[in-house]
Parts: sequence; C-alpha cells; structure tokens
Amino acid sequence: MIELEEALARILPALPAAAVERVPLGAAHRRFLAETQRSSIDLPRFDNSAMDGYAVRSADLARASADSPVKLRLAGRAVAGSPFAGSVAPGHCVRLFTGSVLPAGADSVVMQEDTRVAPETPEEILVLEPTRPWEHVRLTGEDVKRGDLLIEQGHPLTAARAGLLAATGVAEVPVGKRPVVGLLSTGTELREAGETLGPGQIFESNRAALIPLIEQAGGLVQSYPLVMDSLAATRAAIEQALAHCDLLVTSGGVSVGETDFVRDAFVAAGGRLEFWKVAIKPGRPFVWGRRANQFLFGLPGNPVSAFVTFLMLVRPALLRWQGATETNLALYPGVLAEPLSNPGNRRHFLRVRVEPDGRVFSAGVQASHALSSLGSANGLLDLPPDSTLAAGSPVKVSRWD
Ligand code: AMP
Ligand code: MG
Repeated sequence: MIELEEALARILPALPAAAVERVPLGAAHRRFLAETQRSSIDLPRFDNSAMDGYAVRSADLARASADSPVKLRLAGRAVAGSPFAGSVAPGHCVRLFTGSVLPAGADSVVMQEDTRVAPETPEEILVLEPTRPWEHVRLTGEDVKRGDLLIEQGHPLTAARAGLLAATGVAEVPVGKRPVVGLLSTGTELREAGETLGPGQIFESNRAALIPLIEQAGGLVQSYPLVMDSLAATRAAIEQALAHCDLLVTSGGVSVGETDFVRDAFVAAGGRLEFWKVAIKPGRPFVWGRRANQFLFGLPGNPVSAFVTFLMLVRPALLRWQGATETNLALYPGVLAEPLSNPGNRRHFLRVRVEPDGRVFSAGVQASHALSSLGSANGLLDLPPDSTLAAGSPVKVSRWD
C-alpha cells in the first residue's frame, strides 16, 4: 500500500509528453496551452476615446466653467472605425464616440455631458468644464503591450482568456491533445437502467458519474458495455478497449475476492501492474498498470470509492496528459460548522458540503457505498488518520465543480 502522493509521483512522470494540435480559439475552451502565448500587438492599438464627446486640446479649456463656457469650433467627426483625417488646431474640437481614434493635435476628451451645442451656431461647441491632459483617453498599450505574456504554457484557456487572445488577433491556439479514455464497469451483478433486476442484481451507476468527470477533465470518453466477472470476459473487454483508447478506466474487480479479475486480465492482455492499493479512504484497492504508452486506472467498484479515486488519481493524469501544470483539485477555505473525526488509520476524504458563507458540514453517512451523501456533497475534506477537528477549525476543501 502506498501513499497518495507517492502514487501521483509515480503516475504523472510516467505519462508521455502532451501531443500538440492547433485548435480554433472558439473550440479551445478549457484546453491547455502547449506554448506560452504573448501578444503580437498593443492593446489598445491606438489612443482612443473612452467616452462619447469631443477631442480637444486641454490647454484651450483651462478657464472653462458653467458660467463662462469656452467656445470651440467643430472641425469634424470620427466614429469608431473611421478616424478623423486632419489634426485638431487650437480653438477646435472633433466629435468623437467611444472607441474613436483620438485625432492628432488633441490631448484630451471632454464628455458630451460637459458640453452644449451653441444654440444658433451648431458648428460651435460650448465646453462647461476644464479637462486634464489625457482625460477620458485610452492610451496605446496601457492594457497590453506587444510581447506581454497572455497565457502561460500549461494553463487552461478560460472564457476570459479566450477574449483576451481574440483581442490580439489570435484565431488558433496550440493545445495538448485530449486522451481517449475507455470506460468499463465490471460486475456480474450489474444491470443497465431499463433492465429488470433479478435477485441480487443492481443498476450500474459508476459510468454515469465517471463520464462527466472524465469529460470535465478533458477526456474523450469511449464507454463500453458491462463486463461479467470472468477472466476471459474481462480480458476480452480490456483488449478491445486498449485497441482504441489511450487510457483505460475500469470500475470494480480490483479487490481480493474470487470474482475480481481486472488485475489478472490486464496482465493477460500484455499489461504490467505498477502498483496496487493506495492508503486513502474511500478507495484503497486502486490499481495502476501500464502497457507501453497506455495506462490502466482500475478503480474500486464501490461508487463513492470510484468517484474519489477518480478525482484523486485519474483526473490529475488526464490533465497532465494534456500538458496541464496544475493537476490538483482547487482548494477552498472554509470553517467547520461541526466537529469531524477520522478514527481510522488511513487518511479519509470526507464528503462535505460547503455553504456559500464558507461553513463546512459533513454531507452525511461516510460509508463508501453511500451515494446520497455524495449527492449532497460539493467537496472533500482530507482528514489525516486518528484525527479530530473541532467545530470552528479553519479547513481547506477540495472541490470538483
Ligand atoms: P467490487 O469492487 O467489484 O468488489 O465492487 C464493490 C461494490 O461495489 C459491490 O457492492 C458492487 O456491487 C458495487 N459495484 C461495483 N461496480 C459497480 C457499478 N459500476 N455500479 C454500481 N455499483 C457497483
Ligand atoms: Mg465486483
């Protein structure tokens, strides 16, 4: 039995370097950048107006006030996308809108609200307020300078970063390829939803929970039919999946029972077992194996164990496969609203519920088959062996949503 950290320290470096593909920006949401992205242009690309108003020379308006407005001659107009060709001479102004290029000669913008059009002479503008140089002007490069770092290699493309890249003219990004993840559930007792349950049979539920988790981690899921507990059936299913997938996630059949065939079947299919059993609860009988550059992640069958071992051991591998730098679940601070303890000798990932105000409650029964508490949980709290945390303790909760 090995510690979680050791398990990850063996899995992650064993994965091949991410293969790279170029993907249109609009299709690259949540993908991991294979190269650091720098801006090829300044943002803003030119000095422009932050307001609807007038381009002016600030020196002209030093004495402007509501009681004695300064009169400027309207020399022209620049809408966003059509710059004013000339230059603003002393005593003149140019009509501008948000995003209009600031014309040559002007060093400031007065808001429309601080002006009036002269009643009899519409080509004259009365300015009621002084303005400072560069007021309401968005300066070239003040947001992003050419060459500035936009996203680091290994970081995910978020919606906001997609907007940032698009603003610099990026149409495609190099990202890590997504792994094809084969998913199969073993267990003679398992039936599909819609089938009639015979004595001792149960509905299979692990694939339904694992598919979205795999997808959320960037995997392309290839889900297979249920596998009976026999060496031949398990081996055939594993071989079929390995013919098409980069990684294989199985559930069930990795314990010490007489109906647990995943390990033997993987070896029979030409794989090598790298380690078995990780010192966490739920989830001890996790197995990791390798066949050339393909990998087996054998999860325990108990639904909560499968869920938790996926998050702790498979999710990081899927992310690293795509070149992600950060592979751990995000940790959120909270405060325990009730005491929680782990009397056992393995570290326990307790299902907890974090309220929006940061209070952390147990999500209910912590047995590894209990799905209702998983359903009401939104995080896991890592509690060391033989430990108790008092109500009021500050904690950090791993969250997967
Ligand atoms: P195993 O790891 O195969 O010994 O299974 C442990 C427990 O989890 C048993 O009670 C199984 O019936 C149950 N189980 C295994 N696989 C699944 C599954 N895919 N869906 C729901 N329950 C399962
Ligand atoms: Mg089983």
